[in-house]
Amino acid sequence: MYLNCPCGEVVEGIDEDDLVAKAQAHLQEAHPDRAYTREQILFFAS
Ligand SMILES: [Zn+2]
Repeated sequence: MYLNCPCGEVVEGIDEDDLVAKAQAHLQEAHPDRAYTREQILFFAS
């Protein structure tokens, strides 16, 4: 599964836990002003 970040970055994960961890790491690094919950990340994931 993967998540297309609005900045153009594609975050890929092997499962929900992996995707959420990588998405949150990307958000902290690239978008420290934004915070998303696990539910929000999974809602945007496909
Ligand atoms: Zn991003």
